[in-house]
Amino acid sequence: MKRRQIPVPQPRSRFYRVICKTCGAENIVFSHSTYPARCKVCGTILVKPTGGKALILKDKAEIVAELG
Ligand SMILES: [Zn+2]
Repeated sequence: MKRRQIPVPQPRSRFYRVICKTCGAENIVFSHSTYPARCKVCGTILVKPTGGKALILKDKAEIVAELG
């Protein structure tokens, strides 16, 4: 049996289609955003940068699709 060294999973950047829970607008956000992503309509912050993977604020935004 071969042992393969499994590296720390590389964070893969993705885009997500999210619905703003405040106003219902659809927004495209980047999973590794380094700046807060705001809803294009109402300005609610939907994604918070954390230094690595951005945090999609689940109480503000609902992910409806992952765009590869
Ligand atoms: Zn909104």
